[in-house]
Amino acid sequence: NFAVFEGGDGSGTTTQLKLLKEHFSLAGKGLPSFYDTFEPTDSPIGRIIRSGLKHETALKPETIACLFAADRSEHLYEKNGIIERCARGELVVSDRYIPSSLVYQGITCGEELPSYLNKDFPCPEVIFFFDLDPETAQKRMETRASKDIFEELEFQIRVRSLYKAMLPRFRDQGVRIEIIDASKSPGEVAALVWRALQKMLIF
Ligand code: C5P
Ligand code: MG
Repeated sequence: NFAVFEGGDGSGTTTQLKLLKEHFSLAGKGLPSFYDTFEPTDSPIGRIIRSGLKHETALKPETIACLFAADRSEHLYEKNGIIERCARGELVVSDRYIPSSLVYQGITCGEELPSYLNKDFPCPEVIFFFDLDPETAQKRMETRASKDIFEELEFQIRVRSLYKAMLPRFRDQGVRIEIIDASKSPGEVAALVWRALQKMLIF
């Protein structure tokens, strides 16, 4: 089983993955073994990406797009990577995956390059889209230390609309899409996620 959390910046994907992990460790028995992960990863490539997304050290959009594909390839196929874990029957949930690249790099590079770079990577079984209006998301991010180059309101408005345009294409390929109202409290959102996840898991 492979699920991914997607949404604009400040939509709560990281918080929710943490809550889901807690839920799994508390609920324990009878559940598949749970593995949470994220992109950009904490590999050397992921670290280059994070620095390439800062204003002072920003890299060219095409460079970023290629680095994300390289990072994802390792993330999937390395030893103990996503593919191996899914094959062992673990439930893998990633904070961001292909849809983020199609959206963020789609905005900065155009549609063609990111879709080419991602065409051979496997689709997840389910995409959770944390839907939140960008103004609210910006307010939630006010307390964060520093913004990356994409965490501006105008950009985030485009992010949200591109997600909405793109998700039906995944649905057409057989990916289950769960749209989560991310404006609710963290606990309420976590309950929505849990309910949706139960539908896809046999337990
Ligand atoms: O989710 P988080 O904010 O930690 O992700 C780091 C940043 O990387 C995002 O804010 C987004 O700007 C960027 N990103 C991207 N393309 C991806 C994944 C993330 O541009 N494929
Ligand atoms: Mg962010």
